[in-house]
Amino acid sequence: MKKGLLLSLLCLAVLPSGAEAVTLVTPDGRVAEPYQTWANASKVPTTKDIIIVIAAPCPSPAFTSAQGCTFNDLSAIYIHPTATTPRQTFLHELGHVGIARWFRYAHYRAFGHIFRWKTFDHELAAEAYSLCAVKRRLRTAVGGSYNATPRQHKRACDVFRHSASATGL
Ligand SMILES: [Zn+2]
Repeated sequence: MKKGLLLSLLCLAVLPSGAEAVTLVTPDGRVAEPYQTWANASKVPTTKDIIIVIAAPCPSPAFTSAQGCTFNDLSAIYIHPTATTPRQTFLHELGHVGIARWFRYAHYRAFGHIFRWKTFDHELAAEAYSLCAVKRRLRTAVGGSYNATPRQHKRACDVFRHSASATGL
C-alpha cells in the first residue's frame, strides 16, 4: 500500500477515537467492525495505536495462507477473508502489537518464568493475549498450542496489564 494513502487514512481515523484504546479503521477510513467492538470488549488493555484492519490475505509471500498477520511497523492487521476464527485471529494479532509496544526485558522474563520457556515464544504469547482478551480467568487448564493452567493464564494476563500500564502505550 502507498504511504501517502496510509497517512491520510490515519488522519481521518483520529477524529472518531477519543481513545484510551486502540482505534481500528478500514482501508477507506471507516470504523473497522466487528474488530473495534471486539477490541473494546477486551478484558486486557489494547494499545493506543491506530491500526488499519484489512480483510485480505497477508501480503507477505510466506504467510499468504495464514489466518492473519501484522507487521513490525504495527500499522496494519490483515485478516484472511476465510479465517475460520476471525475474532481469535484478530485478538492474536492485537497481542503481537501489544507485546511489541509494551514488553520490556522484565515482561519477557516473567513469561519465561510462568511457562518455563527457555526462549520467549511470540506465537504462544499472542495466543495467551487472545484468550486473556476474552477470559482472564480459567476454570480448567487449556491445551493445544497455548497450554496453560488457570494460574499460569491469570499470571500471563497480569503481565499484559502491568506492561501496558507501565509503558502507557
Ligand atoms: Zn502470530
